[in-house]
Amino acid sequence: MSKPILIVGGGPAGLAAAHSFATVGKKAVIVEKEDRLGGAPILSGYAKLVPSGEWASDAIGGMVTRVEQAANVDVETGATVTGFDGTPGNFTAELSNGKKFEAEAAILCSGFTHFDSVNKPEWGFGTFEDVVTTTQVEQMISSGQGVRCPSDGRKPERVAILLCVGSRDRQIGREWCSKICCTVSANMAMEIREELPNCHVYIYYMDIRTFGLYETKYYWQSQEEFKVKYIKARIAEVTSDGDKLIVKGEDTLVKRPITIPFDMVVHAIGMDPNVDNPSIAETFGIDLEQHGFIDVANRYGAMGETSRPGVYVAGAATGPETIDDSIAQGHGTAMAVLSGLGEISKSA
Ligand SMILES: Cc1cc2nc3c(=O)[nH]c(=O)nc-3n(C[C@H](O)[C@H](O)[C@H](O)COP(=O)(O)OP(=O)(O)OC[C@H]3O[C@@H](n4cnc5c(N)ncnc54)[C@H](O)[C@@H]3O)c2cc1C
Ligand code: SF4
Repeated sequence: MSKPILIVGGGPAGLAAAHSFATVGKKAVIVEKEDRLGGAPILSGYAKLVPSGEWASDAIGGMVTRVEQAANVDVETGATVTGFDGTPGNFTAELSNGKKFEAEAAILCSGFTHFDSVNKPEWGFGTFEDVVTTTQVEQMISSGQGVRCPSDGRKPERVAILLCVGSRDRQIGREWCSKICCTVSANMAMEIREELPNCHVYIYYMDIRTFGLYETKYYWQSQEEFKVKYIKARIAEVTSDGDKLIVKGEDTLVKRPITIPFDMVVHAIGMDPNVDNPSIAETFGIDLEQHGFIDVANRYGAMGETSRPGVYVAGAATGPETIDDSIAQGHGTAMAVLSGLGEISKSA
């Protein structure tokens, strides 16, 4: 019987790849370091997803159930890969839980790490309780608690969402756009206005990148229907006057300093390379690109090829990606693995 395909990471990309293998009767082993599958949308408790509007627990939870019920997918949670040797078609993988097995190929679906806002201290996170991140607001909404100021549980009357926190910021070594945070923030602003119609929501931006078809559904709808206010600004600092949070900066359209009080400030955090990438690169013998994401060796050949034959990559492990693109890459890379194995068996 043929050996399985190793999939590292059980987020949207890894779940899609596993589902593709399951549907063609190919065995797969998912190795997930956390104690459950689902990746960032489940582990970080996202609320309603862009662009489907479905709850993450339903949409990605459904993908998890489908994979967990597949007879030919073995799921190893709470484990990492500690050794990976061999050649395409004949690899041996060793896991941190002591398991050892042979695999024909591997797909790295190990995703990203959320930017830690303490690395942007002048914007108040870690100093003021009511300065929170988009993931915290997602959790407030998905838990059913609603959007509340952490300091005293009150409903905020004024919320500022600051874009590009940990993205497009050379000063802190993050020279990439995280792609989805403009759209996620516009969506979140509308959700806040829907729950708290008397709350004023402002989005502070450098540029708005609600790319592709998201422009109408998120950028324009948030302004025209939900009355979200957009301020093109360079933010200097977030402080407090003892009562309100104060966002200070320069309105870059009128070139004037602006100081506005808020009850809650939300950091739209970006997508960092997975903190595990240096050790993943060493274990699998693959290259990282200049920012620390996993390098895609050939963009126009087989999908997701890395610098090592037989080791592939999909999803946000390659750089900031949306969920639907991560899922597409998971499926596409599974196809590339199968066709690569077909080439090996033809030449054997
Ligand atoms: C605040 C926020 C909101 C977002 N909302 C949306 C949205 O509404 N719509 C949208 O399209 N996108 C959204 N995104 C982007 C979305 O999170 C990613 O597109 C998606 O999670 C990428 O899926 P993935 O499977 O590639 O990676 P991940 O979701 O990061 O999954 C990777 C998995 O690999 C595991 N792993 C990591 N390292 C190892 C290791 N060494 N060994 C074993 N397992 C490992 C992780 O535990 C995780 O389960 C949002 C992003 C942010 C920051
Ligand atoms: S998507 Fe928007 S908020 Fe996110 S990094 Fe790009 S420009 Fe900034």
